[in-house]
Amino acid sequence: MNVSLPTDWARFLLAASVLLTGCADTRPTTTNDTMADTSPPDTTMESDAVGQTGQQADPEGRRMALDRDVSLLKSPQPPVNASVRSSGAFARGILDDSVTTSVENVEARVDSLLDEMTLEEKVGQMTQLTLSMVSKDPHQDNPSAIREHELSPEKLRNVVVEHHVGSILNVTGQAFSVDHWAEVIRQVQRTAMEETRLGIPILYGIDAVHGANYTREAVLFPQNQGLAATWNPALAQETAAITARDVRASGIPWNFAPVLDMGREPRWPRLYETFSEDAHLTNVMGLGMLRGYQGTDVSNASRVAGTLKHFVGYSVPESGLDRTPARISDIEMREHHLKPFRKAIEAGAKSIMINSGEVNGVPAHASSYLLQDVLREELGFEGVAVSDWLDVKKLVNVHHVAENEREATKMAVMAGMDMSMVPTDLSFYDHLVSLVRDGEVPESRVNEAVRRILRLKFQTGLFEEPLRGLEQAEQVGSTRDRRVSLQAARESVTLLRNRETDQGAPLLPLSRTQDVLVTGPTAHSMQSMHNGWSYTWQGGGAAQKMFPEERPTLMEAVRERVGTDGMTYVPGATLTDPERMDEAVAAAREADVAVVALGEGAYAETPGNLNDMVLPPAQRTLLRRVADTGTPVALVLIQGRPRLLNDTADLPDAMLTAYNPGPEGGQALMEVMYGAVNPSGHLPYTYPRSSVGMRTYDRKYSENQDRQGGMSGFDPLFSFGHGLSYTRFDYSDLTVSRDSMTTGALQNGGQVEVEVTVTNAGERRGQDVVQLYLSDLVASVTPSVKELTRFAKIDLAPGERTRLSFSLRTDDFSFIGRDGEPVVEPGTFRVAVHNLSTSVDLVGDRFLTEGPNRSPEERGTTSSLK
Ligand code: BGC
Repeated sequence: MNVSLPTDWARFLLAASVLLTGCADTRPTTTNDTMADTSPPDTTMESDAVGQTGQQADPEGRRMALDRDVSLLKSPQPPVNASVRSSGAFARGILDDSVTTSVENVEARVDSLLDEMTLEEKVGQMTQLTLSMVSKDPHQDNPSAIREHELSPEKLRNVVVEHHVGSILNVTGQAFSVDHWAEVIRQVQRTAMEETRLGIPILYGIDAVHGANYTREAVLFPQNQGLAATWNPALAQETAAITARDVRASGIPWNFAPVLDMGREPRWPRLYETFSEDAHLTNVMGLGMLRGYQGTDVSNASRVAGTLKHFVGYSVPESGLDRTPARISDIEMREHHLKPFRKAIEAGAKSIMINSGEVNGVPAHASSYLLQDVLREELGFEGVAVSDWLDVKKLVNVHHVAENEREATKMAVMAGMDMSMVPTDLSFYDHLVSLVRDGEVPESRVNEAVRRILRLKFQTGLFEEPLRGLEQAEQVGSTRDRRVSLQAARESVTLLRNRETDQGAPLLPLSRTQDVLVTGPTAHSMQSMHNGWSYTWQGGGAAQKMFPEERPTLMEAVRERVGTDGMTYVPGATLTDPERMDEAVAAAREADVAVVALGEGAYAETPGNLNDMVLPPAQRTLLRRVADTGTPVALVLIQGRPRLLNDTADLPDAMLTAYNPGPEGGQALMEVMYGAVNPSGHLPYTYPRSSVGMRTYDRKYSENQDRQGGMSGFDPLFSFGHGLSYTRFDYSDLTVSRDSMTTGALQNGGQVEVEVTVTNAGERRGQDVVQLYLSDLVASVTPSVKELTRFAKIDLAPGERTRLSFSLRTDDFSFIGRDGEPVVEPGTFRVAVHNLSTSVDLVGDRFLTEGPNRSPEERGTTSSLK
């Protein structure tokens, strides 16, 4: 059994002590002892998570000097061009060009290395530990302090040399400087390559989910939800390319991103990590991000291997609470959840991370159906399947499908897990070695997993040059990166409402001559703008000291714009409680306009679970009381999910949402509010009005029913895809190349060209997102009311017009039929763009399209309905 590593009791102490620090990879650690039904409440998380605690977002009252460097804002052109291509062309461009390594002879090298390995060496490769397992114990002082970190050579040797561990992840709680990363990785790789018998490098992995968020100098970007609101996949790709370079500059070749979970459950605390409730938008943004990370060659010094997560179905827990059961029908699974994974796998994704939850009663880590039948056979994935945090242990203590950890280890490995993110002890290693010795797990299964892991190590270039990329340290945090982040924040800000006030003009944009009150808990909060996964796991604690000093909060940006005399700032409320609310209301009476900034703090994963989707009463009271003064109100939402406003929803004259825009959010919001930037963000989700109406836009017709049985019952606060501009776009001349087509022609590659003209009929330049929706009016499986099929972001000067063309093909007309296969049925399809619609009739026989479960010979045959 294992040697000098902590005993269970010591592990418990380690887990408990690291909890106090609110660490990123020293999270609530489960051991057999601690994670029973009676596990102690995780109160320690509060020190770091601010989202649910009401802690003031900026407790230190941080203030930024007014004379900061504004050179960032001077460049006229955005660094990334708006993507003028249609989403279909963008995706095809990536899929047509998906080579993913230039390293040669990988297979032969893997085979010969594998031949030399002992069982222990192989199992070590399948073991992944967190960095604190090879680090000196952190000082257990103030969790908000920036701590020193030092590797422990003894622990490192024990793990890497004695136990052959092949992979390490993340940080010991807080982001490191790029220099410190270089030291850590150098020492880790030196130990692995010089002190072990075979000299196999360590595959280091990290969560760099919105920029290299564990590298202190790196520029962070909007969280995925905000990136999706730009509807600009080329821009998302660029943020990912910068992230990849920064991760490599930190010595790390493997990123645990992108998240491809479908954001269809707004209560889920990880919604902000997802792109959208819609499969097409998720798919296109996901492909852009993956290409940004991996490029076409993951051995490149500025690219990393990506990880599609979390495979699959994690994001729709029925309770809305993280890591609770999901129930997903086969049709729903294929219609929504699998689609983005399928495409990203086709585009060459190198690894996947397994869903930590259960689907239809089976934990994903124990599901050979998901991990083999679906992942390997149906989707053809050949890369590494890594577990999520502690998930082998959770098969025992959380899911209750295994009696003990040995059984759980066998279950997960036999289901198809290649690497276990154990991550705080050597239990997996010990159990798997003994399971193979006892003949309970065939060595062939171990060989299969290790082959995939070694392949990834070769493909990323680790054997040639284990420190590849470090030389780019100086590029980390460049001004251009900041401009990309600013552009992403600008393009994400979504104008939801802009009513005319008594002055007869829409409230926004504001003028700097108006006296403005800025109030609300997110007005002066870097944490709200960043959310979780920002320098620390929860985005709290020491993160407060790591946010870029010179970047403004919303309040600071407004103050800079209008000057201290023109602006009053009063917090009005924390996230959960009133704070000088009377003063804020009094100031509202004196102001020409009130900017009320509400929303959420920072949280990640389970600590972000909600008791109520409605924004806390203190925030709604602030909004109501300020609105009651009669002063026009612009509501700004900075939040990771669409929190309900209930009866205050109609009060604001103007509404903006910024999602979690990252460090440039304050600047970007101010620019939109004052008209320097014309807003172009569009909702990547449906903004619900109430807790019983939380439906996705691609609802079924029956979900439209109202109380009288009429069909007007779907009434969200704002629709998916909604977003206003300061200019006006007119849509005209929607045409289809043919209004009728045989299914045979479609099956043989026939296409329908849809064209539409868009004119900027207003007075200023602006960007719009052209969205094409298809509706299958009658189908053998109840159809969605509509489905996004293509989009394109356009940029038009006043008076300018453009004609766009989209090609629709078989896949666009198909759906998952009753037998689980994609099928095209004859009938009428409505084609809608903006306020225009037309239709296409498909005539002839139904046919199966390129289905996942069929051989090529079977494709294209007609089938009868089951
Ligand atoms: C999360 C993953 C993450 C992993 C490593 C897990 O708890 O679910 O998204 O990649 O931890 O930090």
